[in-house]
Amino acid sequence: MEHIAEAGSEQLDAVLDLVAALAVRVRGNASEALDVVSRIDALCDRLQGVRMDLLHEAQVSGEPGLSAAERLHATNRVSLSSSRRDVRLACDLSDRFSLIAQAWRDGVVSGQQARGIVAGLKHLPVAMTRLQLDACQTELVGFADRLDPDELRVVAERMAEVIDPERAEALEADRIERDARIAHARRALVVVPDHQGSMLIRGQVPIADGELFLAQLTALTPSAASYRLTGELPDRSARRADALVRWCGIAAASGQLPATGGDRPQVLVTLGLEALVHGMGAGTMLASGEPLSAGEARRLSCDAHITPTVLGGASEVLDVGRTHRFFTRPIRAALVLRDQGCVFPGCDAPPAACEGHHTRPWWSGGTTCVSNGVLLCPYHHRLVEPDPNRSAQVQWQILIDPGNGLPWFTPPRQIDPARAPRLHHRFLLRGTGPPPSQEQDWARSLPQVARDPQ
Ligand SMILES: [Zn+2]
Repeated sequence: MEHIAEAGSEQLDAVLDLVAALAVRVRGNASEALDVVSRIDALCDRLQGVRMDLLHEAQVSGEPGLSAAERLHATNRVSLSSSRRDVRLACDLSDRFSLIAQAWRDGVVSGQQARGIVAGLKHLPVAMTRLQLDACQTELVGFADRLDPDELRVVAERMAEVIDPERAEALEADRIERDARIAHARRALVVVPDHQGSMLIRGQVPIADGELFLAQLTALTPSAASYRLTGELPDRSARRADALVRWCGIAAASGQLPATGGDRPQVLVTLGLEALVHGMGAGTMLASGEPLSAGEARRLSCDAHITPTVLGGASEVLDVGRTHRFFTRPIRAALVLRDQGCVFPGCDAPPAACEGHHTRPWWSGGTTCVSNGVLLCPYHHRLVEPDPNRSAQVQWQILIDPGNGLPWFTPPRQIDPARAPRLHHRFLLRGTGPPPSQEQDWARSLPQVARDPQ
């Protein structure tokens, strides 16, 4: 028997020499080189098809002792698992998928395509007659010139719909039921601080709950135009994050949330007076102990309860002052009537997603009244909240026209060097023109809280 392979081996070596000579001749010519590569691939593929046939032969006519896979592993420098996989595929091809095997040897399907088809057909949930199986194979081989291996596998998996539509439907329904049970069991939401100023949110919910969430988020996603004047071009996922913040604001304002610890769900922040007034230092969120920038604390303080507390040297509470409620219900109702949503030019946030903002900061002596308040979505609130450490020239300024109550936005120098005041398009038809500018210099204004620390 041995001399059969011996004799063949000389001719096989000759093929190899031929290919090597071709490789030398196409050197320096990319398209010719790729052409030779294609021919080598096609040849290797067809050889692999023949190899499958031989592996099956070796497996069924093998002598006692080592299996075909074990012998391959021992002699051909291949892993045992890949040898076993190959022998299993060889047997499948020979026993059930002979038309695929033939198409592989003929070069009609590639080795990867053949593997894809076999993998798909093996996962068919219905039992097939030999005739049905042959019909499937013929049909799939017909797609080989159009579909890649993965696509062929998917089409093969769906062959049951062609063979036994009724049973396939029932099986599909079973699969969907099972998936739904698993999805329910796997529901999870992880919300953890990353200790670098962000909260990480990751989770999964059953598909219908997720669709509902997504529909609400999509409805709240700010339009790209909302950002036109901000100097930022956020991508879709950033806009979705802004939508989630709006969503939380709406839930908080709804009054429907159950109390936790005897009060509405809330964020407790401690902040020194220096940080609030002069932007020095940082605050701390009580729940997580995470730090909060003074700017963020100032934005939150616009529409929050502030409880002045005097702490002793070792942080023991010496005195808890009166709680101030900012933007009471009647003031907020008046703001909603007047502003009808975020008043930043171009923004489409509804009133429920908005926070009250003091145009003259309360720490700079601004009072909490309709003529000193506007509704802003959290995104634009963050954008316009004045920073006492920066020049007024580089910050947004809001001027409320004392005549008609319309809020005019003056962009910072870097957004518009001319600093032309703008009005939300909602009010354009009512606006006559911007009121005379009053320069607001936060750094120079004397904070009321500093004068009167009650
Ligand atoms: Zn806005």
